Amino acid sequence: MKVPFLDLKAAHAEVKDQIEAELLRVARSGSYVLGPELEAFEASFAAYIGSPHCAGVANGLDALRLGLSAMGIGPGDEVIVPSNTYIATWLAVSQCGATPRPVEPLEDTYNIDPDAVRAAVTDRTRAILPVHLYGQPADMDALESIARQHDLSVLEDGAQAHGARYKSRRIGSAGTVAWSFYPTKNLGALGDGGALTTDDGDIAAKTRLLRNYGSSVKYENDIKGVNSRLDPIQAAVLNVKLSVLDAATARRQEIARRYSEAFAEAGLGVPSVPDWADPVWHLYVLRHPDREAFQKRLDEAGIGTVIHYPIPPHLQNAYVDAGYARGSFPLAERLADEVLSLPMCPAQTDEQTQYVIDSVLRLA
Ligand SMILES: *Cc1c(COP(=O)(O)O)cnc(C)c1O
Repeated sequence: MKVPFLDLKAAHAEVKDQIEAELLRVARSGSYVLGPELEAFEASFAAYIGSPHCAGVANGLDALRLGLSAMGIGPGDEVIVPSNTYIATWLAVSQCGATPRPVEPLEDTYNIDPDAVRAAVTDRTRAILPVHLYGQPADMDALESIARQHDLSVLEDGAQAHGARYKSRRIGSAGTVAWSFYPTKNLGALGDGGALTTDDGDIAAKTRLLRNYGSSVKYENDIKGVNSRLDPIQAAVLNVKLSVLDAATARRQEIARRYSEAFAEAGLGVPSVPDWADPVWHLYVLRHPDREAFQKRLDEAGIGTVIHYPIPPHLQNAYVDAGYARGSFPLAERLADEVLSLPMCPAQTDEQTQYVIDSVLRLA
């Protein structure tokens, strides 16, 4: 048996005809930038999340970058970020001219450690940028309380967490969240896409200006904006995908439940979920002390796995100027050496899930 890590075509199969009809409809509409398709998706995504405002942008990195800019983050400012995240989280801060200030995660949930955040606040800190990593919400009440105490902005990286709940509330139903619709994300387009949702009308208005050359009236430019708009074709596709997101999430949760039940019984370390968290399992991540050999054995058994992520941002060439070295963030480094993401696809069959479980138990 073969189990791919993620089969995007199979994940779309259920709504393939609807998606193709939408592609044709938008192609024939004569409206290809901004306009009604984008507005319709912004309204439905905002309603789904429970946020009053949604601005579609070109990708998740831009959602982060424009969100920070809209909050007034710029040169001289520090933004607290996780040491273990996809590099986009850091790059958004750097691209604003600000400095990413990494802190280590909690070892059980892999999400940013509020105590470490509190300890990292300086008089230049302007914002906290938590990531809901692997689809599991970070501890927002603890982070919000630190932010209130020190008058900091909070921008959440929700790229992996569409629909996740924190204390029964959907991520994004309060605060400001940057989303990615990269094809492999839980809500994925047929190309790049992103959005910012916020309960702050000023941040929403500023983001809309920034994404469109700083302009709300054609050829009148109020600020130095960029060109970063969510494509109407992708917006129409996303509207179809949104209608099946909860069903896809339920299948992810069922796969994760089966994995965890079997692995916990066998004494393998399974992802730990606080009782206030309803994760959406963007990724199901195991750790293994000899990860490369384990991955190879699974590969030989026909099971696709991916490492998220093999090199932490502070050890990337892109950040040599920050002066970090091996040992700067030992937990992020250890995670990078040990993590392995198992197949997690809404279209995965029960037989495939069972085959992954049997193989992991045999080969770990
Ligand atoms: C995917 C991802 C991003 C970036 O999204 P793009 O749409 O690829 O730019 C940012 N942060 C995290 C945690 C991600 O997983």
